[in-house]
Amino acid sequence: MKPRPAQYLLRFDDLCPTMDRVRWQRFAPMIREFGICPILAVVPDNLDPDLKVIEPDPAFWGQMRQMEAAGAMIGLHGYRHLSGGRGRSLLPLHRETEFAGVSRKIQREWIRSGLAILHGHGLNPQVWVAPRHGFDRNTLAVLREEGIGLLSDGFARLPFVRGGLTWIPQQLWAPVEKSNGLWTICLHSNTATDSLVGQVEDFLRHHAAEFTSVERVLAETVPTRLSASEWLYGMAMLLRIQTSRRRKRLFARG
Ligand SMILES: [Zn+2]
Repeated sequence: MKPRPAQYLLRFDDLCPTMDRVRWQRFAPMIREFGICPILAVVPDNLDPDLKVIEPDPAFWGQMRQMEAAGAMIGLHGYRHLSGGRGRSLLPLHRETEFAGVSRKIQREWIRSGLAILHGHGLNPQVWVAPRHGFDRNTLAVLREEGIGLLSDGFARLPFVRGGLTWIPQQLWAPVEKSNGLWTICLHSNTATDSLVGQVEDFLRHHAAEFTSVERVLAETVPTRLSASEWLYGMAMLLRIQTSRRRKRLFARG
């Protein structure tokens, strides 16, 4: 059977009322223009100083509601976007994260509070998006208990089931043309350079028809556990990313 052509998802991280609104507005019109159904990863109660760029924008929550109504999927992006956890994540890309290694009791409190805040603003969070890819088995258990069965993360070329949740893989931080598989491009509007914004626009201009939505992905595929070969493929991808990040850190230091 011929593999189906590549499909893409867009994910925007670090959305909150105090984010840099001007920088976000470089992307928001593209979502409308190209009819994209992105994952919007919203921080429920942001305390991260890096994401406190403006006074809370009164229009923020309404805009998120509008975008959800237009087809976006709301993601629960942690709780306060702090990095007090020192545990090892199921996806070890950062040493310090918000959730990995934190007790199940505290994780439950944070996830419940986060969901309540988003619900209180009229949003329907359906997918977990861990800040700094930090989460562990306790996070997965609490998410299941709280009715969140989807997670956006992981290295594979197709959605899969692990720890009782369906993982929608996220492997890219800039657009890259692929020949097959499902690829999520994660973007941070606060820090994206103008050159990256241009790349995204150009990619959308050429590939908008290949963008899908999480809902469509789930309607078209029945995720199962990863095959051994796909798992190995994912491990190789993770190792490549870890190595290139280590190299960048060394350069930054040196
Ligand atoms: Zn984040």
